Amino acid sequence: MDQFEQQFARQLELNHPTLATGAGTDALHLAYVLSGLQAGDEVIVPVFTCTATNIPLLYHGIEIRFADIQPDTMNLDLDHVRRLISPKTKAIVCVHYGGLPCDMDEIHEIADRHELTVIEDAAHAIGARYKGQIIGNISPYTMYSFQAIKHLTTGDGGMLVVPDEETAERARRIRWFGIDRSAKQGGYWDNDIVEVGYKYQMTDIAAAMGLAGLNELDEILATRRRLFQIYCERLRDVPGLQIIGLDHTDREHACWLYTVAVDRRQALIDKLRAVHIESGRVHYRNDRYSIFKDYVRPGDYPHMDALEDRYLVLPLHTRLSDEDVERVCDTIQNGW
Ligand SMILES: *Cc1c(COP(=O)(O)O)cnc(C)c1O
Repeated sequence: MDQFEQQFARQLELNHPTLATGAGTDALHLAYVLSGLQAGDEVIVPVFTCTATNIPLLYHGIEIRFADIQPDTMNLDLDHVRRLISPKTKAIVCVHYGGLPCDMDEIHEIADRHELTVIEDAAHAIGARYKGQIIGNISPYTMYSFQAIKHLTTGDGGMLVVPDEETAERARRIRWFGIDRSAKQGGYWDNDIVEVGYKYQMTDIAAAMGLAGLNELDEILATRRRLFQIYCERLRDVPGLQIIGLDHTDREHACWLYTVAVDRRQALIDKLRAVHIESGRVHYRNDRYSIFKDYVRPGDYPHMDALEDRYLVLPLHTRLSDEDVERVCDTIQNGW
């Protein structure tokens, strides 16, 4: 596991300590604990993300403030974020949807002004860059996921980047029930636990998969980026179709999801399905789930409302050939 942590940090050129965890969700939960969030604190999160981003906040009675998304990227809408800030706000969690980095300069400007912690959910964004900086070197906390369908997989697994060695030491204890394993391995251990921890460490079996996967990461990213580009060239001018996260010159997309917004979505899903092309939504707006009902403010998410029945995720993975993508595009270009 140590070897995977080190190799991961070296390969991504990360400047801060990294901790491997049993899942990306574990890493996020650790970030929430390490940044000192407590019951009653308010945290701003995107309304559109994997539920894993937001469920760990419920473990601690933290008040979720859902922010709307930008219509062109489905990333955090910062105008709404600014309006959600109150004296109780403690953190902003941003998700780089599909692999396109959020507006990190603006997020940090808001965070600095109000003394908020920025936590990046980079489950989609391994290898992405914002203004030249790799995602993982920008905020105090960044989380990656190695779940089965992410760029790099360890079956299940995650990684957390923490701000400094002191935080990393505490994080390593909390990752293992609260036990200082390095003291234990030194041959003497007084058996005390002073802080409640979890069982969130990555197994060596998963880490071995991760190490092997790292050898392929560049190739995985290159393949995904090439397929993504073919989609963009072919679908750019299709009437009734908008590509999500297109045309950013100051940031580099990790190309995890290829998302479009279309008129008459169900008709397109049916048309694709008829020729055995799968499409889907992957994530659903979180305010639709009953567990978050206390935090829903209807009418607060106009961009999400407008996209809810329009967004669609097209096939994008490393077993696809250029011709497969051409076939998806041909089918779409024929109309639906
Ligand atoms: C996959 C994912 C997670 C959760 O990661 P796990 O490794 O499955 O726990 C969190 N956030 C987002 C946006 C994800 O896509």
